[in-house]
Amino acid sequence: MTRTLITGGLVITAADELHADVLIEHGRVVALAAPETQEWTADRVIDASQKYVIPGGVDAHTHMELPFGGTFASDTFETGTRAAAWGGTTTIVDFAVQVKGESLHAGLNAWMEKADGNCAIDYAFHVIMSDVNETTLREMPKLIEHGVSSFKLFMAYPGVFFSDDGQILRAMQVAGDAGGLIMMHAENGIAIDVLVEQALARGETDPRYHGEVRKALLEAEATHRAIQLARVAGAPLYVVHVSAQEAVAELAAARDMGLPVFGETCPQYLFLSTDNLAEPDFEGAKYVCSTPLRPKEHQAALWRGLRTNDLQVVSTDHCPFCFVGQKDLGRGDFSKIPNGLPGVENRMDLLHQAVVDGHISRRRWIEIACATPARMFGLYPQKGTIAPGADADVVIYDPHATQTLSAETHHMNVDYSAYEGKTVTGQVETVLSRGEVVIDQRKYVGHAGRGVFVPRGLCQYLG
Ligand SMILES: [Zn+2]
Repeated sequence: MTRTLITGGLVITAADELHADVLIEHGRVVALAAPETQEWTADRVIDASQKYVIPGGVDAHTHMELPFGGTFASDTFETGTRAAAWGGTTTIVDFAVQVKGESLHAGLNAWMEKADGNCAIDYAFHVIMSDVNETTLREMPKLIEHGVSSFKLFMAYPGVFFSDDGQILRAMQVAGDAGGLIMMHAENGIAIDVLVEQALARGETDPRYHGEVRKALLEAEATHRAIQLARVAGAPLYVVHVSAQEAVAELAAARDMGLPVFGETCPQYLFLSTDNLAEPDFEGAKYVCSTPLRPKEHQAALWRGLRTNDLQVVSTDHCPFCFVGQKDLGRGDFSKIPNGLPGVENRMDLLHQAVVDGHISRRRWIEIACATPARMFGLYPQKGTIAPGADADVVIYDPHATQTLSAETHHMNVDYSAYEGKTVTGQVETVLSRGEVVIDQRKYVGHAGRGVFVPRGLCQYLG
């Protein structure tokens, strides 16, 4: 099957909303036409009347099979990318991890092997630098040439992923020269570790203390410091999983100065809060992630940031751990709860609900979930839009359907949903990945191994 025609839908991109028929050939969008004006023939016709036709989601922050705290994130590349497809996401950018003492290339190769032959949708990689030194700094330009153009550093997790300010500055200098993008986990981990130790000594061991010790001010302080280091280095900066309103303010101030500083937030910070972390009987552990969930009042600042473009991207930071058998590791000591939430399947729907709720417009929904992440990480216009020449990663979305999110019905390999019982309006109906149907009217018809590695170009918001 080489030609597919999608008729009668409302095509929504970051730029436009238009009623159009979409012609797909050999895995790519080749043309759009005003409805009922074309006489195209096709092997397959998909009727999208009353539906949206949107680009497949680009989730720029996932952690399939991530080793963390003595266990592994419970979604493999196979189960996690299948769940992504169910949720209307057709590209993920996952994080390959450099093991301390080994090269960045070795980390990338290890993650390539985990993904190869297993993915239902296309995938790309960032690299986590666990060890900034002469050797790894020299590797950065080579990785950029090979389509891995972004590097994540941590101001948190001392002794694990932590980089000090000198290491951060050096990596930023190299990224600035070579065209790479530094992604920052901005929390002052050294100070947080002191507060963790003090809380545990007071007998404060429940999940909710995870939120209390990881203070908003320590996120804001690290965000500010990262911005200043990037200015000194002459490099752009992308701050991951922004959750505190004080951190949004730092980003907004930097952007007002015209600095190339970008921010991402995640659905969990927009829809969940410290109320969830405080759920009794250790249930709060389901919501332990870093940066942590914040008090509800912070949500308004995040929505506002998304509307004003002080925040540009919503990714999931999908990093699931089962409640039974994994989150349990932290019973009696919140600091041992594996950090992470499931969400790769829920992002497009939750952000559509934000459209329904009036937080963002339809085009902004596509912009923050598809187009901007694709541009930010050098995948546009191959990914993130519906236009002639783009990969035919297309979702037929029913904006009128309602669904109740639940672990009973989701496809992520994890025993709970962070949104259990939440009813949302809108549902993915059909998903095409490079022109091939992978979800057909809510039946999975894809297979592991059809997704391919996508080499990325440079961030398209620079220069
Ligand atoms: Zn992450």
